[in-house]
Amino acid sequence: IVNWPFVSPQRRNLSWVQLAGHKGNFKAGEEGTILKKFSENEKLCFERLQGDVLQDFVPGYHGVVERDGDPFLHMTDLLVNFDRPSVMDCKMGVRTYLEEELVRARERPKLRRDLFDKMLEVDSEAPSPQEHLQRAVTKPRYMQWRETLSSTHTLGFRIEGIKKADGTCHTDFKKTRSKEDVTQVFRDFATNNTNILISYLRKLEEIQQALKSSEFFKRHEVIGSSLLFIHDHTGQADVWLIDFGKTTALPEGQTLDHCIPWQEGNREDGYMWGLDNLMRTLGSLTNK
Ligand code: ATP
Ligand code: MG
Ligand code: MG
Repeated sequence: IVNWPFVSPQRRNLSWVQLAGHKGNFKAGEEGTILKKFSENEKLCFERLQGDVLQDFVPGYHGVVERDGDPFLHMTDLLVNFDRPSVMDCKMGVRTYLEEELVRARERPKLRRDLFDKMLEVDSEAPSPQEHLQRAVTKPRYMQWRETLSSTHTLGFRIEGIKKADGTCHTDFKKTRSKEDVTQVFRDFATNNTNILISYLRKLEEIQQALKSSEFFKRHEVIGSSLLFIHDHTGQADVWLIDFGKTTALPEGQTLDHCIPWQEGNREDGYMWGLDNLMRTLGSLTNK
């Protein structure tokens, strides 16, 4: 779904843009801030991020507020210091569902006609002969199939959406999987501007360093979180970590490597491996 920018009364000239999630999940906040639909999990993450080395790389967190009777997380609008920004949401990791979601889906292995139809829409060859006969698939089967379409499995990240400076939004990257295709999308996004690519790369190096020393990162399974790339015509370019809705703390004393392959049970998310591949992709564009 393409979500068109909304304009807050205070910021008539600024267009905010949302590249993922349900449109109803966000509201404009006061000057320079936005409100995201409350989730206990994401709130806990923001609280734990305060004081961590990652704090400077995530949106400023201003607590929980109520609007029209519903709770929201109040955070800094990352677009606010840019002039007609280009924005890209890159979802990190080798899987985008939690292990517990897979377990839960398996407990009730109901045959789903709707998921079969969704599968068919993307690729009529995807369902097995038996699934074609049943005209249905189970949810775990659907979840795992969906991840093989994009670069999530093969590169450890995938492009969720892009807004270009001219205002157009693109969210049709579900099947962008090969290294070549992903590289091409990055090249287009940065309009092949080497300075912007280099700024992004430097920032990712900083993020990589911060992740390596972060207590928060060590102790969390980071699933469905994105890197948000933002640049504009002035040459300003920056990257932030966003979306901690599915980022989950490990049991006391446990840590993750974030680089070794995922096997069900080890909870590994492949975040660092994906970041490495992402940096290689950008790197290949800066020294042509
Ligand atoms: P999903 O789980 O489907 O990815 P979500 O409801 O958890 O969606 P987010 O991924 O946190 O929502 O955000 C959706 C989009 O909103 C992002 O892709 C980005 O375009 C925009 N966005 C989110 N947080 C910010 C922020 N602090 N500043 C500017 N833009 C933001
Ligand atoms: Mg998201
Ligand atoms: Mg989310």
